[in-house]
Amino acid sequence: MTTVTVRGAGIFGLSVAWFCLKAGARVRVVDPAGVAAGASGGLVGALSPHSPDRWSEVKAFQLRSLVAARTFWPEVDAVTGLRSGYGPVPRVRPLPDADAVARARELAREAARNWGEAGAWTLVEADDWAPSATGLAVRDTLSARLHPARATLSLAEALRRCGVEIVPEARDEGAVVWAAGHAGLADLSRRRAREAGRGIKGQAATLGFDARGFPQVQADGIYIVPHEDATVGVGSTTERDWTTPEPDAQLDEVITRARAICPALAGAPVLRRWAGIRPRARSRAPMLGTWPDRPGHYVANGGFKIGFGVAVEVGRLMADLVVRNRDAIPTPFRVEASL
Ligand SMILES: Cc1cc2nc3c(=O)[nH]c(=O)nc-3n(C[C@H](O)[C@H](O)[C@H](O)COP(=O)(O)OP(=O)(O)OC[C@H]3O[C@@H](n4cnc5c(N)ncnc54)[C@H](O)[C@@H]3O)c2cc1C
Repeated sequence: MTTVTVRGAGIFGLSVAWFCLKAGARVRVVDPAGVAAGASGGLVGALSPHSPDRWSEVKAFQLRSLVAARTFWPEVDAVTGLRSGYGPVPRVRPLPDADAVARARELAREAARNWGEAGAWTLVEADDWAPSATGLAVRDTLSARLHPARATLSLAEALRRCGVEIVPEARDEGAVVWAAGHAGLADLSRRRAREAGRGIKGQAATLGFDARGFPQVQADGIYIVPHEDATVGVGSTTERDWTTPEPDAQLDEVITRARAICPALAGAPVLRRWAGIRPRARSRAPMLGTWPDRPGHYVANGGFKIGFGVAVEVGRLMADLVVRNRDAIPTPFRVEASL
């Protein structure tokens, strides 16, 4: 039986642990800060696809992961009785001008070609939830949402119930998978004497507003995600240079912009302010595979802005590699691509 030590109890580490367990390995997860202590402890949770044109291996990977999430999260929640907050909530993007409408029509053809039956990309009339100057919006049904912190806790609990220990400290045993988020990228950079990636701060908020039944909205770089507990997650900033990991005044602008996009949120109270450090690999793509020059060690990192969207497929591919010795990591995601 393969033994696997996973270092990092964020969504990447836990997904890798889950699929290694399913592949028959004995698994232990080690994280000195505990479950969901890093970027995975957030509150936005948009699971949404890249645009459907210029199709690539990266986009195909994300599509597979979004489709797999439809069964993955309900299965995890069934083990624990907890709620990941997963739901097939479509996304709308208000179309501000004629150019955006023309582009959206083009992309509808690309979505039909590249997404197939997995999701539809349709032009619809915009409504009062997310109005637009043209009166039109794009609606896609490949998107879904979950609650990041709760989903991570649910997956951790599912692992525990299946006998996996999640501990603050332990010696390496067997294969070691480093899923240590931005600290892991810093470590890799130090060891390679070259920047492999860095932590990009993001801030988000929870607003008290019951938007259940409404779509999630993406506009002006802002995500507005209705959750099943009658709150709405809004985010995020993208901060390359930051001095404090805590939320600060930059979050106020995100909230103001979210309220401009969805006027119904104007009077919604801010229930929570949060900041996390996203792990962004130098390639900007997920960074997966064997750790070069460190036999028996592996890396699962670089989730950046779409970590939850790709986590299921990341876990599956890493387990294939670590437990079954089958390497199907797409070239753009390989660790070497960021070194
Ligand atoms: C504001 C914001 C909004 C976001 N919105 C979305 C979204 O809507 N949709 C989406 O898909 N993604 C989103 N993301 C991105 C997503 O949250 C991340 O990509 C994902 O959480 C990364 O998961 P991870 O497990 O790699 O890292 P983390 O969650 O950071 O986990 C790394 C873990 O490693 C641990 N660790 C560090 N060093 C060690 C060590 N030496 N040994 C053991 N453990 C260690 C840390 O304690 C931490 O718990 C958002 C991120 C932010 C910040």
